[in-house]
Amino acid sequence: MDFALSPEQAGVQARARDFAQTRVAPLARSMDEQGRMPRELIGEMARRGLLGGPLPPEYGGEGWDALSLALCYEELGRADSSVRGFMTVHTSLVALCLLRWGTGEQRAAYLPRLARGELIGCYCLTEPNAGSDAGSLESTATPEGGDYVLRGEKIWITNGNLAGLALVFANADPSQKHRGICAFLVDTHLPGFRREPMPGRELGHRASDHARIVLDGLRLPRSALLGQPGEGFRVAMSALDQGRLGVAAGALGVAQACLDASVDFARQRRQFGRRLADFEMIQHDLADMAADVDAARLLVYRAGWLQSQGARATREVSIAKLFATEAAGRVAGQAVLLHGGRGYSNEYPVERHYRDIKGLQIYEGTAHIQRIVIARELVGKE
Ligand SMILES: Cc1cc2nc3c(=O)[nH]c(=O)nc-3n(C[C@H](O)[C@H](O)[C@H](O)COP(=O)(O)OP(=O)(O)OC[C@H]3O[C@@H](n4cnc5c(N)ncnc54)[C@H](O)[C@@H]3O)c2cc1C
Repeated sequence: MDFALSPEQAGVQARARDFAQTRVAPLARSMDEQGRMPRELIGEMARRGLLGGPLPPEYGGEGWDALSLALCYEELGRADSSVRGFMTVHTSLVALCLLRWGTGEQRAAYLPRLARGELIGCYCLTEPNAGSDAGSLESTATPEGGDYVLRGEKIWITNGNLAGLALVFANADPSQKHRGICAFLVDTHLPGFRREPMPGRELGHRASDHARIVLDGLRLPRSALLGQPGEGFRVAMSALDQGRLGVAAGALGVAQACLDASVDFARQRRQFGRRLADFEMIQHDLADMAADVDAARLLVYRAGWLQSQGARATREVSIAKLFATEAAGRVAGQAVLLHGGRGYSNEYPVERHYRDIKGLQIYEGTAHIQRIVIARELVGKE
């Protein structure tokens, strides 16, 4: 068993780390306060080859393997979950899904622009009455004179107000339940595609853009279908297999950032005439945090390695997402406590990580749903 990264993987890691630490980390607090991410940061991600990294060279990418992509998300997650989330949706849920399911024409029309960041992607699955149970979505795609006419509502759509391309799921034959769902590539400037920011203020991911989208008689030609009619649910789930690994890797980054910050703080802060790091109880906490980080890393890298071999890794990806997001929750909680009152203020990044990590436990399948996926792989389904 070889745990070493290849030179290509180490190169992606170093490039992503440089971008995350020099460009993202210094902005993370102000982005969180302002509730937005500067557009030039997206342009820079594209110029540095990150946005299109896993795409083949003919579409403007570098053909990264799945582990390289996970390493990139880990580095972004160490700096900021909103930026990592932006890229996971854009690159894993939209671009890689289009690469897998798109026709030659669709790939050529969209992928180079997605890699250059000229076009931003969003993934529209969740609805007011269909979250975890995505197969029960209520948006309809009515066949009409060779076209499809879409009606319905989507919520919580990351990048939804920024996107020029939306991957939208709607049911063309509700009598077939989830087998009637179709996937569509939608130009967000078409009439009938209305969007607005989600109401309320999020607990975390405050620099992310989250939209409520209304499909109001949106007319699409057949050529907008991604995959065959009725294949939409498979398209949606295959995208989540990619995206979940990104969320798991992002969570690993959050956990690593919280551990690093805690070690630094424990070595500097003195109480009772000693460094915090010299109290046995603090050492116990730091050791538990380090064990969680290492275990999460092994699971995330194993899932990435398996996907890189082209193997089916649904179970391993779900285990990685479940464990890494829960481990990061524990590590972030300990980090806030260890920082004392300072950890309760956004003066220190652990406060933001503590808020952000809850989102990673919810989107792309909650922790409950990951347990269902894992258990189903264990015991099957009657
Ligand atoms: C920050 C953020 C970004 C997001 N971005 C996107 C996006 O880009 N695109 C998109 O389509 N969606 C997005 N979502 C939506 C997200 O995927 C859903 O919120 C998530 O799938 C859960 O659905 P729900 O909110 O409807 O909760 P529900 O499905 O109503 O679940 C509520 C609770 O019940 C539990 N539950 C549900 N079913 C079961 C079961 N069978 N057994 C046990 N427990 C169960 C859940 O785990 C949860 O704890 C985003 C959400 C957030 C918070």
